[in-house]
Amino acid sequence: MANDTTRTARQSVYKPRNPRKTPLWQILHGHFAEFLSVYEDRFEPRYGRLSPYVQKVVERYLRCGILDFGFARIKCADCGREMLLAFSCKCRSFCPSCQKRRQLEFAEFCVKEVFAPVPHRQVVLSIPKRIRLHFFRNRKLLSKLARCGWETVRDFLQTAVGREDAVPGAVVAIQTFGNLGDLQPHLHMIVSWGCFDERGTFYAVRGAPDADMIEQVFRHRLFRMLLDEDAVTRELVSDLLAWRHSGFSAYVGESVPARDTDSLESLAQYIVRGAVAQERLSVSDGLDGTSRVTYRSKKVHPGHGANFRILDALDFIALLVAHIPARHEKRAINYGFYSNKSRGMRKKTLEAQEPAAVRSQAEIVSATEDRAPLAVRRAWAYLVAKVYEVDPLVCPDCGSRMKIIAYIQEPDVIWKILNHLKLLPEESPGTVGHLPGDDTALVRSAEIVCEPFYDDLDPGDAPFDRLRAFGGRDAADGYECWEKLIRVVPADNRSTPRSY
Ligand SMILES: [Zn+2]
Ligand SMILES: [Zn+2]
Repeated sequence: MANDTTRTARQSVYKPRNPRKTPLWQILHGHFAEFLSVYEDRFEPRYGRLSPYVQKVVERYLRCGILDFGFARIKCADCGREMLLAFSCKCRSFCPSCQKRRQLEFAEFCVKEVFAPVPHRQVVLSIPKRIRLHFFRNRKLLSKLARCGWETVRDFLQTAVGREDAVPGAVVAIQTFGNLGDLQPHLHMIVSWGCFDERGTFYAVRGAPDADMIEQVFRHRLFRMLLDEDAVTRELVSDLLAWRHSGFSAYVGESVPARDTDSLESLAQYIVRGAVAQERLSVSDGLDGTSRVTYRSKKVHPGHGANFRILDALDFIALLVAHIPARHEKRAINYGFYSNKSRGMRKKTLEAQEPAAVRSQAEIVSATEDRAPLAVRRAWAYLVAKVYEVDPLVCPDCGSRMKIIAYIQEPDVIWKILNHLKLLPEESPGTVGHLPGDDTALVRSAEIVCEPFYDDLDPGDAPFDRLRAFGGRDAADGYECWEKLIRVVPADNRSTPRSY
């Protein structure tokens, strides 16, 4: 795959997008200051106190990819062509561009460092509407939700192989959103379909998986946890247990064979995707002067009876920022045979046995390792090339390799260069580096991460959708007419159909 990417990259030229033109940036730029001013009265009763961290994340996102806030200069050594690359914000699970990078890193890490060469399946576990808000008001419950999911599947697989001394390996991703951005915490897990004993022997589980049984066990385990945490009352639990349809659901996907690492990598990217997909958003101004946000989905949402939602801009922001993880909140956890502890112990044992073999492996691992969970904190250019099959460091004029020659962060230098190149924003040419409501600093360089901007565009959210090439598709078009808005009229209401 990497070879193909490199080959195509030589033929195409990278075109960075203009973040100012994306609906998400426009919504937040236009309304975030107002959102903050009304939060306490309008949103706090439902969503709880707003963490100052949320404000920081949004402000950083608003600078991501914008030249006014600093950039790297890149230059072609052969023909002298120069280009500017804006910095990125690195906000996880929020900035679509930076999250895309994390998705790629995470998936590559899983495939290269975590998954054993055995069959895997995806398991998705979701919970009823009545208890969903609890996980937002007390975010610590989210990692406990992940543990409940893991323990359920572990017990199921241990029972299936008939051994309690063997464990499966699982990567569990916590997602907080439904397909229309709702508050809908649920789990996506990639699980080895069988268990490993302590010597690493794998006992595969064959036959059709029993999703109903998994759902039932998960339900009881989750209630037990919520009761232990005093998060719900016994009355609520008995009430929910009495429902004919439990509101829980378990889905077990097809088996992914050990050799199909491409599918596993796509799946791993999918399970850690961000809450918002740019191409599903659009903004319009209502007659009353307020902004409306339309959020679309490929599937009809059972709760809304439609594949889209139209929200007031402030309501949309409230929903959106609820999905920003707290500073140390984990979004993916490895368990069992894949846990960090278990992998660390195996590595140590291997080192003792075969020092030479492991050393050569470790060299690759430590090449770029700093704080990211891999060797996979890869060069920016490599990751952009992987998404768009276009290498951003290829000179558009002569096709040679371009190099970063300087980082520009001084406000007056930024202004001079952008002014000279006529790249100052049209709407406010005098206010380089300003955010709404912020008249103090121009560029707060200490907060800027010196890494060139990493472009985005989510190619879709079906688990096995292949990443699509950037070529021939501009940020602005492509998705405009990719689907119609559909509302499902309930059966008892069919006499008055409405079209949208
Ligand atoms: Zn050149
Ligand atoms: Zn970003």
